[in-house]
Amino acid sequence: MGKTIYLIDVTNRDGVQTAKLGLAKLEKTMINFYLNGLGVFQSECGFPTTRHESNYLNANMELAEQGVLKPIILSGWLRAVVADVELAFRLTRVRDLNLSISTSEQMTEGKFQGRKTREDVLQEMVDALRRARELGAGIVGVNAEDASRTDMPFLVRFGRAAKENGADRLRYCDTLGCDNPFSIYERVKQLAAETGMPIELHCHNDLGMAVACSLAGAKGAVDGGVDAYINTCVNGIGERAGNADLLSVVLAVGKSSGFAEKYTLQPGLRLAGIWRLAKYASYAFGVPIPINQPGVGDNAFAHASGIHADGVLKDERNYELYHFEELGRGEPEIIETGRQICVGEYSGIKGFRNVFEKMEIEFQSDDEAREILELVRYANVLKQKPLVADELRFIAQHPRQVKQLLTVTP
Ligand SMILES: [Zn+2]
Repeated sequence: MGKTIYLIDVTNRDGVQTAKLGLAKLEKTMINFYLNGLGVFQSECGFPTTRHESNYLNANMELAEQGVLKPIILSGWLRAVVADVELAFRLTRVRDLNLSISTSEQMTEGKFQGRKTREDVLQEMVDALRRARELGAGIVGVNAEDASRTDMPFLVRFGRAAKENGADRLRYCDTLGCDNPFSIYERVKQLAAETGMPIELHCHNDLGMAVACSLAGAKGAVDGGVDAYINTCVNGIGERAGNADLLSVVLAVGKSSGFAEKYTLQPGLRLAGIWRLAKYASYAFGVPIPINQPGVGDNAFAHASGIHADGVLKDERNYELYHFEELGRGEPEIIETGRQICVGEYSGIKGFRNVFEKMEIEFQSDDEAREILELVRYANVLKQKPLVADELRFIAQHPRQVKQLLTVTP
């Protein structure tokens, strides 16, 4: 025992690569900002080899260096290919990396179609890993894509080779969501015991078990003697049926029967920020939060039936497992029902100043106000929906980095 379960949120990587969904670079930055406020250990926040990410990633790295996005670790995802590692180092200052390659027989044969054997897969991973180390990478994780359909002897070899060549962690990807809590527990425990590698759990929700599998996988890792790192997405967004929902994972670790007595969640979490983040992510992705979503759904603390309402009024513990205030709920929200002055991509200085005065943000000079207005207009061009107060505030506080991350040149 004595090992810890950490959170690595992948909303800005798996979440944004989801079909029909996406985020503007300012929105990705805001997600990093909220995750940092929440105390999440790491945000896998982008693709360092994708050119339209470069300015966003570099601006976020600068915000990290300045202490704005700190202590969260901002990491990038790329293929375990030497050329990609080199490109990532050329394009961005992201140095904490996850290198990904498929390990299952199905994917090696089905995707590479005879061009690569599994021995090649092993060698490519080692080569990419060594190159990342040579170039001065920070934390390096190696991802076994489709690990849940990979035979254990190969997975163990893969993990040992990663460890011998300088990887810090091994990501067990249940890429298709085919594991169940029993299978992932056994497999991850064995993998942990036989490789000694800290293990990341990356679970998908195709069978509705992403959170359960994440919990069981983390237990397997800790029981096997290593730290666990659970990959999450805000509101459970992610490829197809989604990833493990961030809040549900935290609640499952902290509130499910007896678990927290034996297994430790990372220190420093400030869960009261989750309500704001969940609402923001829902707005930014344009995906409503289901009414029955754990913790942040509209019905999560609603009671109608006679016995339940009576019971919860007498003692909330009769029908509520945790308190809404823990999640930052309960504050009244002010909704403007009369005249509104908004800012948009065609806003002028008068309306803009009115909006910022209401938020009690003052500018040193007219020039400064006009500079921020210009950035707000461009942010609107890229977002194509109204900016929220936190975004306006962020732009006013960090204009230089916002200008950089708004810059996308094909
Ligand atoms: Zn995934």
